[in-house]
Amino acid sequence: MDTSNPVLAEVVEKHKNEVLSQIRAEYDARAKKAARAKRVRDNVRANPQRPKGRNRNALCYCGSGKKYKLCHLRQDQQTIRKMRVKA
Ligand SMILES: [Zn+2]
Repeated sequence: MDTSNPVLAEVVEKHKNEVLSQIRAEYDARAKKAARAKRVRDNVRANPQRPKGRNRNALCYCGSGKKYKLCHLRQDQQTIRKMRVKA
């Protein structure tokens, strides 16, 4: 390809920029999605639901299909205990 032709070079440059901005946009979207997921994870970690306020016989929030008391109850209690020790 003869890129010494200024018109052609401009077209190539424009196309390159378009492709680059598309890639960048896609990358940004993925990064935003990952950041959102991380925020949700951090939020869950920072604000664990108190077992007291939960129905222990209801299905666990993690989607395991097990009852909360048989699934994450113990884990949540430990998390809260650790937070109390720190505070
Ligand atoms: Zn669970």
